[in-house]
This record gives sequence, C-alpha cells and structure tokens, in this order.
Amino acid sequence: MFRPVLNQLKRVSLTAWIFIGIILGILSGITLGETIIPVATIIGDLFLRLLKMIIIPLIFTSITSGVLGIGTSKNLGRLGLKTMAYYIASSLIAILTGLLLVNIIKPGVGAELGLTADVSASDITAGSLGDILYRIVPDNLIYSMTNGEILPIIFFCLILGVFISKLNNRHRILMTDIFNAGFEVMMSITHFIIWFAPLGVFGLIAKITATTGLEVFRSLGMYFITVLAGLLIHYLVSLPLFVIILSKENPVRHLKNMGIALLTAFTTSSSSATLPLTLECAEENAGISNKISSFVLPLGATVNMDGTALYECVAAMFIAQVYGIELNFAAQFTVVITALLASIGTAGIPMAGLVMMTIILKAVGLPLEGIGLILAVDRILDMIRTSTNVWSDSCGTLIIAKSEGELKESRFDINH
Ligand code: ASP
Repeated sequence: MFRPVLNQLKRVSLTAWIFIGIILGILSGITLGETIIPVATIIGDLFLRLLKMIIIPLIFTSITSGVLGIGTSKNLGRLGLKTMAYYIASSLIAILTGLLLVNIIKPGVGAELGLTADVSASDITAGSLGDILYRIVPDNLIYSMTNGEILPIIFFCLILGVFISKLNNRHRILMTDIFNAGFEVMMSITHFIIWFAPLGVFGLIAKITATTGLEVFRSLGMYFITVLAGLLIHYLVSLPLFVIILSKENPVRHLKNMGIALLTAFTTSSSSATLPLTLECAEENAGISNKISSFVLPLGATVNMDGTALYECVAAMFIAQVYGIELNFAAQFTVVITALLASIGTAGIPMAGLVMMTIILKAVGLPLEGIGLILAVDRILDMIRTSTNVWSDSCGTLIIAKSEGELKESRFDINH
C-alpha cells in the first residue's frame, strides 16, 4: 500500500521539495509559534553546519584545480590573459550594478524583524588598505583554515596552483590529478548536502516566521526584486553592450544561437551540468571554433559567475541592512572584492552560491544566520543567476573568438 505513495514521492523534484519546505516552514511558524523554535533551530543549524563543513575543502580544491586548468592548457599566455580579463571585467560590472541597486532600493532598511547581531564594530570598520591586505595574506594557513578565514586560503591556493603548474611533468600531472579528484569529491559532497536543503529551509523559515511573523517576506520581496532587476540589467544591457563594443557582433543573434544552453541553465541551475550544451551551441550554432570554446567555456563554467557575483553582493548588503549594520566604504569595498573571489570559487552546481555566501559574511563580519533570511527565495534566484552565468561565458567566448579570428558563419541570422 505504501509502495505507490513512495514511488510518487520519489518523483518529486528537489526544487518542489524546497518549495514544500518553505510552505511547511511558514505554516508551522505561524500556527505553532514559539513552540517550534527549539526543533526548528536544531534542524536549521544542522543544515548551516553542513554548509560550513564543506566550505574550506571545497574552496581549497576548486580554486587550485581552476588555476591548474589554465596552467596546463595550450596557448595559455595570450588566451588565458584575455579570458581572465573578460571574466574579471564582466563580473566586476555585475557586482557594481548590484551594489548600485541595493544602495538605491535599500531592500533591508526599515525591516522591523527585531534581529540584532552581536558583531564587534572593529570587525566591520577596520578597513584601511593595510588591514585589507593583512586579511588576504596569511601568516599561518592552518590557523586561517580552523578560523574559517577564506581570503587567505584563496590567496594560498592561487600561489599553490601557479607553482604546481611549474613542476616537472611527472609531478605536475600527479598533483593536478589529486586536486581535480579532490574537487570532484567535494562537489559530490556539496551535492549531497544540498539534498538536505528542503529540511534546512523548513527549519530556518519556521524559526524566522515564528520569531518575526510575516514581516520577513515583505522585505524579502524587495530583496528579490533588487537581485532580479540587477540580473536583468546585466543580462539584457551590460553583456550585450560588451558584445557590441568588443566584437561588433549582434547580441540578439548570439542569444538566439545560445538559447538551448541558456534555458537548460535556467532549469537545471547548474552551469557545469549545462556545459555540454553550451559547447554544442557555441560551436554548432554560433560558429565558434573548438580551439576557443573548449578552453574558454569549461573555464567559464568553473570560474566566471557574473550572476552569482551580483547576487552575493546584493545579498550581503541586504543582510547588513536587515541587521541594521552600517557598512562603510571600506567594508563595501571588501564586499565587492570578496563577491568577486567568491563567485570565482563557486562550483557550477545548484545553490553553490548560497554556500559561498558564508565567505562574504565572514569577510565583513556579518552574522551567518543571515543566510536563513535569503534561503526562501534562493531557489528561484539560482535559476536566473545560473542562466546569467552561462550567458556571460557565451558572450566572452564570442568576443575572444572574434578577436582571435576563430569565428565562422553562425547558424541563425537575425532576419530569419
Ligand atoms: N547554480 C549556480 C551555477 O551553477 C551557482 C550558484 O549557486 O550561484 O552557475
């Protein structure tokens, strides 16, 4: 009798489960009130602990293997530089768009959620250039790891990757294999943790609604609109402008050529899972040579995440606003730089950006519990930001291919 029901349940997708978690969380928060808080706290905290557990090993392996990916490719010099220049420039534009919007709209200001954070002022205001540099360069890597200081770890991994790629062939291949395999297993563990998201969402949402009532959703709505507006501006204005100015190609035609990949990214919320289709569309439809697409796209699926970068910046600022924490210029600068680094370190899998949020919150000393606030709408934003990520990779590939003379006839003409 139970088997058919069980089979039916198995068919429900993760996204649907997360929505169910949200709804049950809201309902139990409202109906049970404070009685749900102890249980909800444990469930929500366990989920957050799992996220925190994976963060250091994930960054360590993903950044190092990302750098090695560049180091071992042919034509590394020029192509690598062009690719990185585009990736950094487009991500920075995305972040600044988000920063501008969140400062104008101020979605979290005035949200009376009664949330206060126990944050020492020095965590946030200490922000002279020297301080920022000290926060990046570690004096003790193990200390940084145990204390969850992410920036020094990223710094070390960048150096590690560069020097591994300088080793003799035998050792270089061995080390590269180790880091690639390590990254693979960390991705699988992250994937596994994400299966607990519906439960985590339930716990965190139930706790929030039980403590704050429905007010949270009003400000969450504004937060959602801010991220969405930023992503749309980047998708429909900034990236097409990049294409027009840097390659003199038609962005609408390119959008059409990449359509299947962009939709797949939207539905799967994973740039890595979409990669085969992105490659196919770039080569078959957009006429980009395999030499360019096979270098730029896999790298992009790993390190270039414009949508994620924009979202990380807006989310961090939103959390600061909700907790009534004023972020000065230096702190906002730290948010921009960490959002860039975090997006580079984000794995191309569903909700990986949410895991990376911890980096930025830690870097500027914001409460990690803030993640609980934005969880409710994260699934939908993930779909849109993933499509933005893949769209940015596609535009970069087109621009680089054009500059290298590696662009053939494209399939769709705008007039057809
Ligand atoms: N899901 C995104 C991607 O695969 C990463 C993220 O969570 O922001 O591109």
